Amino acid sequence: MRVLSPLIRFIDSDYFPRGIEATRAMPETMEWGRAIPFIILHLGCLGVLWVGWSPIAVAVCAALYVVRMFFVTGIYHRYFCHKSYKASRTVQFLFALLGLLCVQRGALWWAAVHRHHHAHSDEDVDVHSPRQKGFLWAHIGWMTSSRNFPTDYSLIPDLTKFPELVFLNRFDLIGPLLVALLTYGLGATLHRYAPSLDTSGPQMLVWGGFISTVLLFHGTCCINSMAHVWGTPRYDTGDDSRNSFLLAIITLGEGWHNNHHRYQSSARQGFYWWEIDPTYYTLRLLAMLGIISNLKRVPESVYREEKRLVHGN
Ligand SMILES: [Zn+2]
Ligand SMILES: [Zn+2]
Repeated sequence: MRVLSPLIRFIDSDYFPRGIEATRAMPETMEWGRAIPFIILHLGCLGVLWVGWSPIAVAVCAALYVVRMFFVTGIYHRYFCHKSYKASRTVQFLFALLGLLCVQRGALWWAAVHRHHHAHSDEDVDVHSPRQKGFLWAHIGWMTSSRNFPTDYSLIPDLTKFPELVFLNRFDLIGPLLVALLTYGLGATLHRYAPSLDTSGPQMLVWGGFISTVLLFHGTCCINSMAHVWGTPRYDTGDDSRNSFLLAIITLGEGWHNNHHRYQSSARQGFYWWEIDPTYYTLRLLAMLGIISNLKRVPESVYREEKRLVHGN
């Protein structure tokens, strides 16, 4: 049974027959077994050599990148990690379900890892710090170590109290399966009913499923790696977080990472109008529509702090 454990864990993320503590005590090294999902994801992009491309497949790839980047930033990060706004229990459940479509595991695992990052930014226990274990480890390596796989439910008691969220987190395989089914189904439907678009099920699966998801994956990982190396710090946060316009474009506003490390619970990460933050604009729209509420603001004291740093008074 122990041999089958990694396979069972593909289906049930909370399956740890030896106990979670034993897994967390494993050495922090790359494991090929844990790297398999990432290898499959990247190799899937090579399918483009067989399926080719079409304007509609590329457009769906781009649209799924943008929409799902909002799910990562506006839902996983700004809601589940930082509770920067309020949502009803139903909306919260739907948000967690949509978040699974990003293929970045469940909201609770994501939130637990990220809250730990904020509590120990760039310290030796930070699981993805370029300062500690290098750029590549901070970008992707840390996810290939079993010790970072279990969800640390003790860090997220406010989320663990909802059994429906724990269920989605446990069976996060729902996400990639849904993406594969929906993209293939869309391509096959268009192939049948709109042949002039010149696409197919396999082509849409490669572009909408694999390529879009790989781009989304690396765009997100850039915040763990690049945003702690590249850009300019506005606040002295004691870590290596930086602000970067380019990263803000790629990640719909998350590139203002030093701002975010200074004040984490704000719904906006671009603190000024010229710091582009499409995630925040979308959250404002959702609030106007009554879907979410109580967007948290940046306190005046944080703005004053910046003026003191710049002007020295
Ligand atoms: Zn950070
Ligand atoms: Zn954060």
